Amino acid sequence: MELRVLGCHGGESVKHRTSSFLLDGKLGVDAGAVTSMLTIEEQKSVEAVLVSHAHLDHVRDLATLADNRAQTGGPPVIIAGIAETIAALKTHFFNDVLWPNFAKLPTAGQPAIVFEELVPEVPKVIAGMTTRAVLVSHTIDACGFVVQNGKAAVAYSGDTGPTQRFWEVLAETPELRALLMEVSFPNEMDWLAKVSGHHTPETLGRELLKLGARRDLPVLLYHIKPVFEERTERELAKLGGSAIEICRLGDQYVL
Ligand SMILES: [Zn+2]
Ligand SMILES: [Zn+2]
Repeated sequence: MELRVLGCHGGESVKHRTSSFLLDGKLGVDAGAVTSMLTIEEQKSVEAVLVSHAHLDHVRDLATLADNRAQTGGPPVIIAGIAETIAALKTHFFNDVLWPNFAKLPTAGQPAIVFEELVPEVPKVIAGMTTRAVLVSHTIDACGFVVQNGKAAVAYSGDTGPTQRFWEVLAETPELRALLMEVSFPNEMDWLAKVSGHHTPETLGRELLKLGARRDLPVLLYHIKPVFEERTERELAKLGGSAIEICRLGDQYVL
């Protein structure tokens, strides 16, 4: 499985892009940078996007992806997520006010997007890969994902603070090759991480202990806030134990 980092930050600047990853060139995982980092040709190959939750930094490029698809033609982009996320996208995003309802455009018969609800922990094949949503702990309903393609699986935490079930599912997935894991604020902003449902290096270190026997699993970190980037990275450097690495824009991994 090929993993491409399109966006890996908890904010945006000329050097930072919000959360977005691409598996095998065809399955997006969150849409924080799925158009800003892909050519129109590359966007045509995107069959589906898994959406972890409805926060804007994870869904924003669904707007431009849908618009481009309406013009290039081709099969609709599948937008997959838990029921609460899909409901929020319908009500607050593709609602013919904030943005056109591309589930009916350019024509109702051949729309640019289709929504697909995922039931937590029930596997579903999306863009040829077996996908499971697993609920995590954020300020709104949110999930992470475990995506499996043949013998390799990758997990994605979405936005989350300390949580339980997600780690249990990882322990039950022997095919797991890597974990894309969020960390957002430096340790002294712990109060803000708590109220916003995110991690600091310190809370992340405690969470990673839950990997148990899988503590050698490669952990690829994303969602660091650009404003606190240096401080957070300095603190992460002191975290020993797991094989952790900080994602960089444009990174590609073969899992
Ligand atoms: Zn969020
Ligand atoms: Zn976020």
